[in-house]
Amino acid sequence: VKCIGILTSGGDAPGMNAAIRAVTRAAIYNGLQVKGIYRGYKGLVTGEIKEFKSQNVSNIIQLGGTILKTARCKEFTTPEGRQLAYDNMKKEGIDALVIIGGDGSLTGARIFAQEFDVPCIGLPGTIDNDLYGTDTTIGYDTALNTILDAVDKIRDTATSHERLFFVEVMGRDAGFLALNGAIASGAEAAIIPEFSTEVDQLEEFIKNGFRKSKNSSIVLVAESELTGGAMHYAERVKNEYPQYDVRVTILGHLQRGGSPTAHDRILASRLGAAAIDAIMEDQRNVMIGIEHDEIVYVPFSKAIKNDKPIKRDLVTVLKELSI
Ligand code: ATP
Repeated sequence: VKCIGILTSGGDAPGMNAAIRAVTRAAIYNGLQVKGIYRGYKGLVTGEIKEFKSQNVSNIIQLGGTILKTARCKEFTTPEGRQLAYDNMKKEGIDALVIIGGDGSLTGARIFAQEFDVPCIGLPGTIDNDLYGTDTTIGYDTALNTILDAVDKIRDTATSHERLFFVEVMGRDAGFLALNGAIASGAEAAIIPEFSTEVDQLEEFIKNGFRKSKNSSIVLVAESELTGGAMHYAERVKNEYPQYDVRVTILGHLQRGGSPTAHDRILASRLGAAAIDAIMEDQRNVMIGIEHDEIVYVPFSKAIKNDKPIKRDLVTVLKELSI
C-alpha cells in the first residue's frame, strides 16, 4: 500500500476531525500518501478527492463535525455506483481506504471490499455507540456530555414547576445515550429500545415511585421506533395519569455538535493511528476498536451485528439511585 484514501460517512459525530487528523498524520509519518475524499462515498463515486498533507489537518482536533463533509450516498448501494467508486480510486492511485462512520458506512465498506479486493479499515464514528466490539465509539462521550448539560438545565425548570419531563435523546435503536445519560444526570428513569418488548417501562417507572418523594421527574427516552419516542409517552401519561403535569423536550441535532471531549479526541487519535498500523500489517476489512483499553481488530461482519449488549447492571444502578 502506497496511498490511502480517507472519508467520513453517514451521520457526523464530534471527534471525526480528530480521527481524520490522526489517520492523515500517522500515514504520512509512515511514508504513505493520503487523499481526502469528500462527502463520504459520494466523493468516491463522483471523484471529489484531494491530496492531504500534514497542514491540511492542522487546527482541527478541537472542531466538531467533519472537514471532509459527510453524506448519505444512494449510488454506492448499487453495483454500478461501487464500480464508479473503484474506477475513481484507481485513477487517483488510492490502494486502501479508511472509512469513519456508523454501521451503514461499515456495511458499505464490507460489500465494497468483497467486490473489489480493496483493503478497507473502518473507524467507529457515531454518537450512538452501537458498534459491536468496541467499548465506545468516536462522538459518543461528547454527545453524552451534551445531554448532561441539557438535562441539568431542564432539571432547574422541572423542579421549579414540579413537572414530569420526557427528554428524547438520540441513539437510533440503541439505548446507551439514554441509559448512561440518565445515570449521569441523575434522571429518574430511562426508556430504552433494548427492553421495549420485555416490560412496560412507563408503568414500571410510575409504579416504582414516581412522585413518592419528589417534586420533579425526568425520564430520558431513546428516539427509537421501538420505544415510540418521548411524545408517545407524554400522550400516554396525559391519558392514563391526567394528574401529572407533563412536558416533552426533544434534544435533536444539538447532540451531534460541539467540540469533542478529551475522551473522544484521545479515542479518535488512538484509533486513527491504529488504522494505519493495521494497513501496514496487511490487515483488511476490520474495524478498529478499543476494548479494556487495548486496540482490537473487529471484522466488519461482527462490528455491524446490531445487537451490542447494554449492561444490565446499569439499569439496576439507575433504579437503585433514583428512589
Ligand atoms: P449513523 O449511524 O451515524 O447514521 P451510518 O454510517 O450508519 O451512520 P448510513 O446512512 O446508514 O449511516 O450509511 C451511510 C452510507 O453508507 C449510505 O448512504 C451508503 O452510501 C452506505 N451504505 C449503507 N448501507 C449500505 C449497503 N448495504 N451497501 C452499500 N452501501 C451502503
